[in-house]
Amino acid sequence: PSGAEPATKIVINLERLQQLPAEKVGPLARYAATIQSQRGDYNGKVLSIRTEDLRSLAIIYDMTPGELTEQLIEWGVLPPEARPSTEE
Ligand code: C2E
Ligand code: C2E
Ligand code: C2E
Repeated sequence: PSGAEPATKIVINLERLQQLPAEKVGPLARYAATIQSQRGDYNGKVLSIRTEDLRSLAIIYDMTPGELTEQLIEWGVLPPEARPSTEE
């Protein structure tokens, strides 16, 4: 892999997530905690989630998936590489 292809894998920075105020990230933090619980995956610094889960979260935040991705990058929860390479 060259790394040049669009980054579609969603990898949440759990340490950063914990630093942010609950009124901002509450729904996302609860969603991530639920996934960790379902997987029994408690010790990671990051959590890979499904693209489908990002769509569900976007509905919860009343944003498009692209807008939510941008918001999560601004918060430092997703790395800038998660930004789609093409912008409309
Ligand atoms: P499930 O969806 O029936 O998935 C069963 C198992 O298939 C998962 O067990 C995992 O080993 C594997 N699996 C399914 N999809 C993927 C995938 O895209 N990548 C990888 N690496 N493995 C996959 P696991 O991890 O113990 O999860 C148990 C159950 O917890 C899942 O059953 C699902 O109901 C829920 N779950 C876990 N993580 C997620 C998630 O990120 N999103 C959602 N929506 N549900 C999740
Ligand atoms: P990667 O996907 O680039 O992940 C790099 C490292 O980030 C992983 O090292 C792990 O420490 C962390 N990481 C990423 N997602 C999660 C997560 O949802 N939970 C936790 N606890 N940690 C996460 P690791 O585990 O040594 O895996 C090395 C590489 O092995 C991964 O690189 C990936 O290429 C592959 N791999 C591991 N598990 C899976 C999997 O379930 N599905 C697939 N397709 N590849 C996997
Ligand atoms: P990954 O394991 O590298 O899987 C990459 C993509 O392959 C997934 O993207 C999904 O489209 C497909 N895939 C992998 N395993 C399965 C499967 O068992 N069933 C189906 N229907 N498709 C599968 P997706 O869904 O966006 O997930 C992205 C990453 O999130 C996965 O990368 C994995 O790291 C994590 N993940 C998603 N669901 C689960 C899960 O249930 N359990 C665990 N442990 N990790 C999951």
